[in-house]
Amino acid sequence: MEQLRQPPVEYKHGAFRPLLILFLLAALIPLYLASSNIAEEQLNEAASQHLARIYNGLSTTLARHIYLPALLAEQNAVKNYLSDLADGHTTNPDAVNRYLEKSNHIAGTSDIYLMTPHGTTVAASNWNLEQTFIGKNFSFRPYFQEAMQGKLGRYYALGSTSKARGYYFSRPVYDGNNVTGVVTTKISISDFEENWPDEKFEFIVTGPDEMVFLSSNSQWRLRPLEPLSSAQEKALRESRRYGKVKLDAIGISQKSRGGENALHWRIGKSDYLVQSRIMNTANWTVSVLAPTTSVTNFSVLVTSIGLVVLLLAGLLLGVWWQRQAERRLFEIRAREELETKVEQRTAELRLAQENLVQAAKMAALGELAAGINHELNNPLTAIRAYADNATQFLAHGDSETVETNLGEITKLTERMAAITHQLKSFSRKSQGEIVCVDLSVAVENALAILHPRLSRISDAVVEWTPPDSKPYAMADLIWVEQILVNLLTNAVEAIQNREQPKIHIAIRRQMKPEQKDTICLSVRDNGPGIDTEVIPNLFEPFFTTKSVGKGLGLGLSISYRLAKEMGGTLEARNHEDGGAVFTLTLPTSGKMQ
Ligand code: ADP
Repeated sequence: MEQLRQPPVEYKHGAFRPLLILFLLAALIPLYLASSNIAEEQLNEAASQHLARIYNGLSTTLARHIYLPALLAEQNAVKNYLSDLADGHTTNPDAVNRYLEKSNHIAGTSDIYLMTPHGTTVAASNWNLEQTFIGKNFSFRPYFQEAMQGKLGRYYALGSTSKARGYYFSRPVYDGNNVTGVVTTKISISDFEENWPDEKFEFIVTGPDEMVFLSSNSQWRLRPLEPLSSAQEKALRESRRYGKVKLDAIGISQKSRGGENALHWRIGKSDYLVQSRIMNTANWTVSVLAPTTSVTNFSVLVTSIGLVVLLLAGLLLGVWWQRQAERRLFEIRAREELETKVEQRTAELRLAQENLVQAAKMAALGELAAGINHELNNPLTAIRAYADNATQFLAHGDSETVETNLGEITKLTERMAAITHQLKSFSRKSQGEIVCVDLSVAVENALAILHPRLSRISDAVVEWTPPDSKPYAMADLIWVEQILVNLLTNAVEAIQNREQPKIHIAIRRQMKPEQKDTICLSVRDNGPGIDTEVIPNLFEPFFTTKSVGKGLGLGLSISYRLAKEMGGTLEARNHEDGGAVFTLTLPTSGKMQ
């Protein structure tokens, strides 16, 4: 019954840990990347909307004021005033100043002023303010130079007098074909900084020189994005666009691509997603900077949720796995318990069977006792007689007869020893040792045991011719003897009171194709035979047709079980010529000599 059992599966945490970490990384890294992609796309979208808003706002503001200098340059008040000055007349500027002041107020511009062809301001909307432009020369400004060339001058700069940032449009004023002066409007654009609604997003407006001209972040205003070379710094100073501001760079420590239209910048410790658009008319680059902390926060949140979900799933899986392991362990234990019980019961049954065999043997011995008594008494009486005679012949000196008597005594004691030997071996208890057994020996032994009973039936004939080659079978000799004694005892009983009582014992080898080689031992008698109705019950324990005290009904049932234990069979049938035939079939040992 012993089987190779698999030990119960143990969950070894140590062995699983690196695998678990690998699995978590394999699942969470793509989740982190996917969620940060989604969040970045959303941020990109929001940045693009902000960019459109600031870009459109700036371009609308500039477009709204671009017409103003041209319009003013056509005004008679302006034209006449400048023509008079050009002609060398001294003219009172009050009327022009008030006109410019009023126009400035209506247009919502920062300043409007007139310059002579030499760049000196001769009338201004801020004529009455302390920081008036009147008297100031702006010939160095490119917008003046462009206007003097007959073009639309446009420029942005930090006001040299006002120190306020502004955008300038300028136009020449003509008297016939002669340029008599330049009219300039300055627009304040710092409103965009004050009105910037979003606290999270930042914007910057830079020129080709990478100087931040406008920004929602006051720290970044009028500073270069990156450190300038000394040549760049010198050129900037000479242009006087930004006055005397300090030129220390904001410093972008890291720049990389952040998708199709965006860049990633790191300024200080903050990371930004940057979207930019070039405004050609103003020569500006407008950029919106969106902090990427929201992307990181979103990805971390999604990944944390993923981690919690995975850990929960892992926990559930672990609990399920443990339950399965416990169930398997329980099943193994239950099976082991069952097997132990089966083994115990089998051992108990075997013991009971052995005891039954022994009891049956003792019963058979009891039945044989009378015959044995006779068998031993006869030689004893003869020995006594021989011994008595020998004493007398010794007294007469007939040593030859004494010797003959002693020889007879020896023979008789040998016969008695043979009988007791048979009885002893018959009563022996066997555990069942299957070895190669010569069946003819078992037949001889059984016949010797039954001899006393057989001899009581006059004319009884036992037909037994051992086969030419030794009939070997795989069996327990004592068990085969036991079976034969039972069969022969029944046969002897069956032939009692029959005419020409006869028992026939035969051994033959049976070789059927595709079957194991077997050997058959049959005991046939010419008794009344077996009632066909009782044949199916014949091998049941305590089945007997004999009267109480005569039969136990154990002989055949024990014989049947012993035959089975040896891997053989025991069958009963009636012979066609009358009488019963019992056939014991056993596996052969493979040799028959
Ligand atoms: P018991 O001999 O004590 O009755 P057995 O188990 O040896 O027990 O036999 C059971 C029964 O089988 C017998 O009572 C008898 O009816 C029948 N039987 C056995 N051997 C023979 C035989 N050779 N001829 C006829 N009947 C037999």
